[in-house]
Amino acid sequence: MEDVGRQGKYLDWTLQGTDRGPIHLIIHLSRAGWIRWIDSPSSVPPKPGSGPLALRVTFSDITGQVVGGVDVTEAGTRKSLAIFVVKDPADVSGIARLGPDPLDASFTPEVFSRILDSAGGKQIKGVLRRQSVIAGIGNAYSDEILHAAKLSPFAPCSKLSPEQRIELLGAIRSVLFAAISRASGSAPETLKSEKKAAMAVHGRTGEKCPVCGDVVREVSFADSSLQYCPTCQTGGKVLADRRLSRLLR
Ligand SMILES: [Zn+2]
Repeated sequence: MEDVGRQGKYLDWTLQGTDRGPIHLIIHLSRAGWIRWIDSPSSVPPKPGSGPLALRVTFSDITGQVVGGVDVTEAGTRKSLAIFVVKDPADVSGIARLGPDPLDASFTPEVFSRILDSAGGKQIKGVLRRQSVIAGIGNAYSDEILHAAKLSPFAPCSKLSPEQRIELLGAIRSVLFAAISRASGSAPETLKSEKKAAMAVHGRTGEKCPVCGDVVREVSFADSSLQYCPTCQTGGKVLADRRLSRLLR
């Protein structure tokens, strides 16, 4: 193994391949995927079956000595993790389509502002998590970023003021950097619970906002739902849930 990196939400393992150059093992863990390093993997291949094990990889050095391995598992019945073995990460269409990484130095306020302007009247929540526009932000962290930036999830992108754009970019960076530094200091067993515990609004419907004490609300958005704080983000206005109002009509 030569390197492990990240491209958006994809893990990219650079492996020493044949004499024709390195190969890349690319894994997208989706919502319920999990990866676990094993120091001394068993030489007996796993039994195929209905268990959560999706992939087992064993790594060896140039002499053929096994140096470790990984198990990739996926919980639940909805299987959506994706695994690729490619010569070039750009051969994975989801990676080729990735927008710029907001943690990269090239992601300047000007770049971000251009993205917002070209998104026009689209709602900021949807634009933040669209991987082809900005790489690496999902449903949970887009809720956290918008709360930190004190912005309504439904604010139209191009209408954001210069001050709001600066605030939002700062929130993107601080939320993502905090998530990464928390994760790199965590034991695997506590990673999920620590991620949950660090959330201010995401997944906390009905609880108190840690900033102002207002009740965190939930509203449907695209294929799922989002959480926000009315006092911090929408001037105290509780957003109507379109799913709910359709039922009531
Ligand atoms: Zn609040």
